Amino acid sequence: MKISELFKTKKVVYSFEIFPPKVESNISGIYDTLDNLSDLKPDYISVTYSAGGGSNNARSIELASLVKNKYHVEPLAHVTCINSTKQKVIDTIEALKKEGIENILALRGDRIPGSVCNDFKYASDLISFIKERGDFDIAGACYPETHPEAISSEVDIENLKRKVDLGLTHLNTQLFYDNDDFYRFIDKVRGAGINVPIQAGIMPLVKKSNVDRTIQMAATKIPAKLSRMIAKFNDDPTALMEAGILYATDQIADLLSSSACQGIHVYVMNNAYVAKKITQNVSSLIDGINNGD
Ligand code: FAD
Repeated sequence: MKISELFKTKKVVYSFEIFPPKVESNISGIYDTLDNLSDLKPDYISVTYSAGGGSNNARSIELASLVKNKYHVEPLAHVTCINSTKQKVIDTIEALKKEGIENILALRGDRIPGSVCNDFKYASDLISFIKERGDFDIAGACYPETHPEAISSEVDIENLKRKVDLGLTHLNTQLFYDNDDFYRFIDKVRGAGINVPIQAGIMPLVKKSNVDRTIQMAATKIPAKLSRMIAKFNDDPTALMEAGILYATDQIADLLSSSACQGIHVYVMNNAYVAKKITQNVSSLIDGINNGD
């Protein structure tokens, strides 16, 4: 099924993001996680794809196929392009087609130092390339706090508009912790004539190891409320886990009250416990909205 069909029937689409297990480990190690995630009935599950290439890319395709063909949940397969040759991207597209996958999140990815591949420069190059080669729904990424390389939020949104105009069916945001950044972004994006559905990306900060890495990689702002929470519970793993779940729940409840987004995409990081707790907290809100007038 094409994910665009979901946005036609639901006011709020609810999804998870997972990553493939390392190639050295057995793929069956993720079965437990997928058993639990699929029980939560997300509308779809997205599967990350390493811009660094390597054998993990085959794992991403294998995992997306597993989500679809064993767990019967719609997958959104991430595909990156910046360090790839055209041939490698063609191989990936063909492999996805073979597995019956109909939805791709087309991404540039981050350049690897020393990479000499110049076949693709931006996600927009990849979007056109995929469109010429298959009948996929293609989604894209967007940045409520502006992409770190963009010279301004205005230019970033101009670039986003160019990308969307190539035929993207929806957008997933980078993670953010201050909903006001998201609301400001939505105002600007809608003002720029970008009308596709946008799902808010929520990354629960539940582990000490995640905290620094997440903040650094996503270049995201940490509001005082979250900073206090981290400072207080950083050395107590159980408390940090529960506080992170509560923070994410609070963010989602606020987003759902606003009608600014058409979906919630939870970066569950293969943590079925976190996914379950958050889903239990918010599912009645989402069901209420989807079943209301
Ligand atoms: P683009 O849309 O190409 O934008 C990149 C930069 O170039 C921006 O600053 C933009 O303003 C600028 N730009 C775009 N077009 C032009 C143009 N024509 N001229 C000049 N400037 C331009 N990374 C992974 O490796 N694997 C993943 O699975 C993955 N999943 C992600 C999922 C989501 C929802 C998000 C938000 C990010 C994900 N990333 C992933 C990270 C992503 O690859 C990086 O953020 C990357 O730096 C940008 O990718 P993009 O597709 O947004 O790039």
